[in-house]
Formats: sequence, C-alpha cells, structure tokens
Amino acid sequence: MPGLNQVDVKRIERILNIVLDEARPPVGRCRLLSSGFAPYHTLQLEENIAGFKGCIGCGNCIDACPLLAREPRRRERTPQRTSFALEALVAEDCDRCDNCVLVCPQVDTTIKHYIVNTRMVEGMARLVKKVESDEEAMMVFDF
Ligand code: SF4
Ligand code: SF4
Repeated sequence: MPGLNQVDVKRIERILNIVLDEARPPVGRCRLLSSGFAPYHTLQLEENIAGFKGCIGCGNCIDACPLLAREPRRRERTPQRTSFALEALVAEDCDRCDNCVLVCPQVDTTIKHYIVNTRMVEGMARLVKKVESDEEAMMVFDF
C-alpha cells in the first residue's frame, strides 16, 4: 500500500521489462520493485511496517488471473491466496496479461501506470488470441 513517494519507473524500466516479458506470474517481483507500505498507512499495528513489500494475502491476484478463471480446477491444488500460491498454480502457463500486477495493493501506482500506458494493448491482444485458441482446442476435443 504505497504512499506518495513511489518508485521512479525510469530507474527500474529495464528490469521491469525483463520481469514482464517472462511467462511467469510477475506480481511478486513487481511488489519487490515497489516502495512498500507507506509510513503513514492507517492500519493500526503495533509494529512499524513502513517499507514492507511482502504479500498481504489478499488474493486479488488469484481472483483476477484469467488462466485460473478459464481453468478453475487449478485452484483446487491449494486454498492459499498469496502470490506464492499464484506462482504455484500458474507457473509457466502465465498469459502475460499483467492483471495480477494491476490489482495488487502492494505494487506502486507508477508501475501500474507504466503497464497500462505501454503494455496493456499488446497484453489484451495476446490474451484474446490465447482464449480463442483454447476455445478452438475445446471444440476439437468435443468432437
Ligand atoms: S495470467 Fe495474468 S493474472 Fe495470471 S499470473 Fe499471468 S500475468 Fe498474472
Ligand atoms: S494481490 Fe494480494 S495476494 Fe496477490 S501478491 Fe498482491 S498482496 Fe499478495
């Protein structure tokens, strides 16, 4: 849950593109590239968690993943709702849509805006193509 001082994407652009180009869930690594919990976050906690970049287990990334939506049986492998679970459930079958990054509360808005501005059109086109080819495969299977 980043604050106002978020990562400058120009400083991490090269590594960010390497992460986003891989067919593996990118959300965990995008979290680590982010600034972490803002010091003035309103959660009432005894410990100081400013800068914490860990997964908070909200499950947003799992809910937003199109691969898990198309193949819900994958989710039966674990009830956990963390980025670690997402990595295990999706592995190298990732569609590279970047949805998981966009819905993660721990990823900086600067990174999300970079994705929306530079990669979203290409990502959605790739996803539509993937869904269409999956549907064609299902039709062949039905016969
Ligand atoms: S398919 Fe999309 S939402 Fe699912 S892990 Fe890959 S990038 Fe994230
Ligand atoms: S969306 Fe939630 S569960 Fe997924 S990596 Fe971010 S904090 Fe963790």
